[in-house]
Amino acid sequence: MAKKQYAVIGMGRFGSSVASALTNLGFEVLAIDSNEQKIQEVVGLVTHAVSADTTDEEALRAIGIRNFDVVVVAIGADIQASILTTLILKDLGVPKLIVKAQNELHGKVLQKIGADKVIYPERDMGLRVAHHLISPNILDYIELSDDYSIVEMKAPQPTIGKNLKQLDIRAKYKCNVLAIKTNEHMNISPYADDIIKENDILVIVGKNADLTNFEIVHA
Ligand code: ADP
Repeated sequence: MAKKQYAVIGMGRFGSSVASALTNLGFEVLAIDSNEQKIQEVVGLVTHAVSADTTDEEALRAIGIRNFDVVVVAIGADIQASILTTLILKDLGVPKLIVKAQNELHGKVLQKIGADKVIYPERDMGLRVAHHLISPNILDYIELSDDYSIVEMKAPQPTIGKNLKQLDIRAKYKCNVLAIKTNEHMNISPYADDIIKENDILVIVGKNADLTNFEIVHA
């Protein structure tokens, strides 16, 4: 199978980080920015880098943008350029379009004009940092919807040596333990008599408020 080809537009902090990470993962990545200096900064970190204004349809055609499997639009501050670029890419028939939004309203517009996925890196990172501040045990935090999330956390001290039945997390906190990770071993759908050990990682799903409650009590 041919390697997936990615194009990333906008070499700000976020875009350049996505582009170099994809390259390191072994994908072919074209980096695009209207600012020649930004392009010079990423040459060597990505497969190809070109300078172009992506609000110019002809420039995008000339690059052959339609041939890429996934295009990531990481233009941040210039919302007008982000929207115009998305609109043109959609018109050109890019198979998968992932666009970074600055705020909720920007995100709504992007969704309406056909972005396949709208991402909010600053907001999501803010959420993760906030949860990490509440409880240093939190390793990761994934929002499933406005109401529900999954957290990955180091097993808090009070849970160690106890089994899930004793802890009764479902009844006490209305949260479900989806998995217990011991070193590299993942115990999915653990049984009630599975015991939590020191250095285990718990993967828990629940309503945001219930998860926060569990995090605070066990911080
Ligand atoms: P971040 O917050 O991730 O650093 P920025 O908004 O600072 O994001 O960076 C966005 C990048 O997008 C900048 O390097 C800018 O030159 C680039 N950019 C802005 N408008 C266009 C455009 N019309 N075409 C191509 N690149 C653009």
